[in-house]
Amino acid sequence: MPLYHTIVHNCECHTFEDVIFGLMRIVGTGLRDAERKAREIDFFGRGIVATTPLEIAELYAERLHNEIVSASGTLLGTSIEPAT
Ligand SMILES: [Zn+2]
Repeated sequence: MPLYHTIVHNCECHTFEDVIFGLMRIVGTGLRDAERKAREIDFFGRGIVATTPLEIAELYAERLHNEIVSASGTLLGTSIEPAT
């Protein structure tokens, strides 16, 4: 079964805590890994937060986008791409 990456894109409106707690709640990432991933997203401008079959990647990307809302009300940038 082909696998897809769920990608989170960096921005200036979401905090580290927004991303960390969102990854823990929606993807089930552990605290230490979520903290490491948030730093990676900040440093590289984007980060792979999950690698799964397409349906799950789409679900994660949609939920991370719609449910991680910043204090100013903006949605989180996400995308999916094939894992090659
Ligand atoms: Zn943002």
